[in-house]
Amino acid sequence: MKRFFLLIVLFPLLVDSWFCYAQPSQLKQEPDSTLRLDYVLCGDASHQAIYWRQSFKGGPWAGRRHHLDQPLLRGNGQIRVLDPESGACLYANSFSTLFQEWTVTEEATQVQRAFEASFQVPFPRQPVDIEISLLDTHGQVSGYLKHRVDPADILIRPIASPGLETRTVWEGGPLSEAVDIVIVSEGYDATESAKFFLDAGRAADALFSHEPFATYKDRFSIRAVFAPSAQSGVSIPHEGLWLSTAVSSHFDTFYSNRYLTTSAIWQLWDLIGTVPFEQIIVLANTANYGGGGIYNSITLMNSDHPTFVPVLVHEFGHAFGGLGDEYYYDDQFESQYPADTEPWEPNLTTLKDFNSKWADLMDQGAGLYEGGGYQSKGVYRPAPDCRMKTNECETFCVVCNRAIIRMIDFYTR
Ligand SMILES: [Zn+2]
Repeated sequence: MKRFFLLIVLFPLLVDSWFCYAQPSQLKQEPDSTLRLDYVLCGDASHQAIYWRQSFKGGPWAGRRHHLDQPLLRGNGQIRVLDPESGACLYANSFSTLFQEWTVTEEATQVQRAFEASFQVPFPRQPVDIEISLLDTHGQVSGYLKHRVDPADILIRPIASPGLETRTVWEGGPLSEAVDIVIVSEGYDATESAKFFLDAGRAADALFSHEPFATYKDRFSIRAVFAPSAQSGVSIPHEGLWLSTAVSSHFDTFYSNRYLTTSAIWQLWDLIGTVPFEQIIVLANTANYGGGGIYNSITLMNSDHPTFVPVLVHEFGHAFGGLGDEYYYDDQFESQYPADTEPWEPNLTTLKDFNSKWADLMDQGAGLYEGGGYQSKGVYRPAPDCRMKTNECETFCVVCNRAIIRMIDFYTR
């Protein structure tokens, strides 16, 4: 694994001098602000590029206030905020994107496409450089953009509040300390707000009925935003059904029947407006099986299929914990996890650098089982079964459990 992005910058980080937020004890004196950055990610299987589109100034900073310069996981990409003079990293976060999933499809060998992406960082007090990197399956930079943001730029647009009904579903701690989740409605028409808020409550219950989320319930806050759709339900292209909905989600992403996603990221972020968040869950009002979770990007879930509870928790495992899928197909080899690279997902290994994974848990219930990450060969998982492998398994394996706890601590301690 290339450590290019994991350089630890050791210097006293006086965050208050750089960012418009304060430590919890100072919150009354210091207004919080967030910088939203919109980009277009484009290219094909062999070339990727990033273009900056627009910057926004938003509401209170909901993100972490500790160890700002170092993401816990490498991810499939990183955003970094840099001191323009010293180059020192002031803030960094990692992510994955739907665009990068698309770049390994057959379509990406034939055509170039563009996808929306949005990121948020603490609003700077002084000019900073923003650096975005996309990483390929070998952890090598495949797309890169660096640009300056001056907080005095008059074209930084204030984020408008769309005035949507927002309710607190669960408040486990103050904004500055908790992991903040926002749940957004999709495919609920104007008469269905009561159903949406009930479904949002079911989503919170699903999460907190599972360890380790149950134990760490007080480290999370959940808010729900009701964005009415013109029509009820979601689009199902393989049935010829296209509906007008709040975030334009649809099944058949990349021609996969069950893959329910949205490409309308800016539209989604506009609906969230100034509601503070670190994780987005979109609840799609349908009984059709489907959904997806993309690390630090989005969890999108159907609301009414009988598997709602296990699938929601599984997808949130991707989006929050950065966990990989532990299932596999017999006919796929070396697609996403090449043998010369240790995956960044904490619950998968190619044995390239197993000591960085769960070698220390081998005598505490973890094992090493070949098959995972969609590949039957060359990728290993920690347990015969896990919530990240099947819907029938009721718990996370010991490795996934630890990975989620580490992520909760990373955000909140
Ligand atoms: Zn697991």
